[in-house]
Amino acid sequence: MSDPNNDAFLRAQQVIPGGVSSPVRAYRSVGGDPRFLASARGAYVTDVAGREYVDLVCSWGPALLGHAHPDVVAAVQEAASRGLSFGAPTVAEVDLAEEVRRRVPAAERVRLVSTGTEATMTAIRLARGVTGRPLVVKFAGCYHGHVDALLAEAGSGVATLAMPGSAGVTETAAAETLVLPYNDLAAVEAAFTQHGSRIAAVITEASPANMGVVPPHEGFNEGLRRITREHGALFVLDEVLTGFRVGPSGWWGLENARIQADGGAGYVPDLFTFGKVIGGGMPVAALGGPAAIMDHLAPLGPVYQAGTLSGNPVAVAAGLTTLRLADDAVYAQVDRTANALADAVGEAFSRAGVEHVVQRAGSLFSVFFGPLAASSGVRDYRQAQAQETYRYTAFFHAMLEAGVTLPPSVFEAWFVSAAHDDAAVNRVLEALPAAARAAAAA
Ligand code: PMP
Repeated sequence: MSDPNNDAFLRAQQVIPGGVSSPVRAYRSVGGDPRFLASARGAYVTDVAGREYVDLVCSWGPALLGHAHPDVVAAVQEAASRGLSFGAPTVAEVDLAEEVRRRVPAAERVRLVSTGTEATMTAIRLARGVTGRPLVVKFAGCYHGHVDALLAEAGSGVATLAMPGSAGVTETAAAETLVLPYNDLAAVEAAFTQHGSRIAAVITEASPANMGVVPPHEGFNEGLRRITREHGALFVLDEVLTGFRVGPSGWWGLENARIQADGGAGYVPDLFTFGKVIGGGMPVAALGGPAAIMDHLAPLGPVYQAGTLSGNPVAVAAGLTTLRLADDAVYAQVDRTANALADAVGEAFSRAGVEHVVQRAGSLFSVFFGPLAASSGVRDYRQAQAQETYRYTAFFHAMLEAGVTLPPSVFEAWFVSAAHDDAAVNRVLEALPAAARAAAAA
C-alpha cells in the first residue's frame, strides 16, 4: 500500500529542489521520507496519512503557545477580514513594536521585517553603515540565516549537510567575515588586536542553539560587549531563536537577571534581532536598538532597508496576540515541561548505556553523543561536530515510529510549548526507553 507521505515526497521532488522549501526539512541527515503535515493543534501535528505525533519541533520555535492557539487564530481571521496587506503603516505595528520595547527596553526603536534572515542582514548593513567599516565577526556553529556574509561555518542546515558555507558566496563577501571559535574570548581579543579598526560588528546567537544547544560560558557575552565597545564596533545579539521563547525578555533578560542577582551590572548589546515567536507562526521578524543607531535606517538615515510585506497586518496580528498571551505563567509552564523532558531524555540514555550530555539554555535543550561530549560537555562547534551523530539517526526514527516528531538533525534544539500537557509529555516519556536502546545499538 502506498504511503501518502512517500507519494507527496515523490511529487514534491519533481517540482521543488529536494522536495522542500527549506533544506533541513528533507531528513537528509537522518534519512527516510519527511512527513508532509496536514494540520497542527496544541502539542500535536498530523501528517497527510492521518497519523498524529507529539511535536517537539514547534515550527522550529514560533509555536510557544502550541499550534493554532484559538485566540491567535481568531486574531488572524479578524485581521484577514480587514485586508491582507496594505503597503501602508498600521496601528498594530506600533502596538507590536511597543510590546517588544516593553520587554526589551534597549530596543528603543524597532523595525519590522518578515524573516530572521532579513533581520540579521539588516543589522549587519546597519552596523557597516554606522561605523563605516567592512568586517564582521561571527562564531563557528552560529546560524544567523542565509545571509551571504553569515553563512561561513554556520550551524543549522549548513551543519546538518556538512557544508563549509555555500556556493554562490563570493570570495570578497567571505573575506569580510572573520569566523572565530565560540566561547573563546582570547580569539576575539586577538582578532580585534589585528583588525580592530576595520571591524563593524560582532554578531552572536544570544545562546547558540543551531549547533545543538551550546550556552555561552559565564562572562562570554559580557566580554563581547566590553571588547566591541573598546574598539568602536557594534555588538549584535541574535535573539531570533531565543527571543521571547526562553523568557519574556529572551536570553538577554534571563542572563542579565542572573548577572544582576550576582551583583554584576549586566550588559546591553547595540542591536537585537528577533524572529520566530515574535510572529507567532506567521512571517514577522525585527531588529531593535537605541534610536541613535536605528535612526540611521531609511527614511531617516542613509542605510536602506524596505519590504513590500514588512509589518504585514495578518502576520502582525498573530505575533502581537502571541506576545500578549505569553505571560509569566506561560514561560513557567514551558520551563517545567522542558525540565521534565530534558531530565527524562538524559535518564533514558543513561539507562541504555549511551554516553551523552544533555545541554540546556532556558527551555531549550539538545543531546550530544559520545564519550568526549559526555565527559566534558560541548563548548564549541568543533566539539559539537566530533560527536557520534549516527546515534541520533536511530533515536530519531524510533521516536518517529512511536509518534513523536523531533528535529530531523542532531544539530538543532528541541522545542516545547505551553500546550504540551501531561498527556503529551507522557507519550514522549513512554517512547524514550526503546528509542534510547535503539541509539545504544546503533
Ligand atoms: N538567527 C537565528 C539564531 C536562527 O535560529 C535563525 C533561524 N533558525 C535565523 C537567524 C534565520 O531566521 P529565518 O529562518 O526566519 O530567516
